[in-house]
Amino acid sequence: MRKDVERFIQKRLSKNEGFVQAYRDELKALKGGQSPECYVLMCGDSRCAETAWSGEKVELGEVFGGPATMGNVVNDAVLATLAFNVDHLKTKFFVVCGHTGCGAVEASMADFSSERAILKNELEKLKADYMQVQAHSQLPESDTVTLNVARNVQAQVLKVLQSFEMEVASGQLTVLGAICDNQGVWGDEGRLYFTSINGEDCFVKGENK
Ligand SMILES: [Zn+2]
Repeated sequence: MRKDVERFIQKRLSKNEGFVQAYRDELKALKGGQSPECYVLMCGDSRCAETAWSGEKVELGEVFGGPATMGNVVNDAVLATLAFNVDHLKTKFFVVCGHTGCGAVEASMADFSSERAILKNELEKLKADYMQVQAHSQLPESDTVTLNVARNVQAQVLKVLQSFEMEVASGQLTVLGAICDNQGVWGDEGRLYFTSINGEDCFVKGENK
């Protein structure tokens, strides 16, 4: 085996050992099934952590991770995963979670004409999505990337609302937009802000403790 591949595999297996030890009881208790409270769609950015939603530890069985996408874009795979959540797991909340400093949004604002076709396609779609949405009405002073991150979150929320109109109208499903402030644009790095509730602009943050 190539040395770098072997090092990678060994490193990840040893990290996994820590997980196995730390979550042994929870994994055993959840063997029978899951009923997560929410499904959070995040950007694939390696700085976006599921633990932003659950505290220091991962909350197994509570937050459905699902596929992360570049720029937290809602695509068919996400809609299918949400359908599974709504119909079979009775998940009540779906959150589109963007983040400040999103490289995908940033790239979509620059010249991406020389990127390979599949990436160019995605960036074109991402840009078209958020260009259809007006500027957020309640955001504090923000840089242009952050303003477009908020527009993109709202654009993705609107896509979900179209596909789950009945469930949202009946209150069975609530679709939220949020931004994880990894860059510290509005305060501490890593703080979550809710920016949309069923397509209505809002700006809700947690309290300092
Ligand atoms: Zn991102």
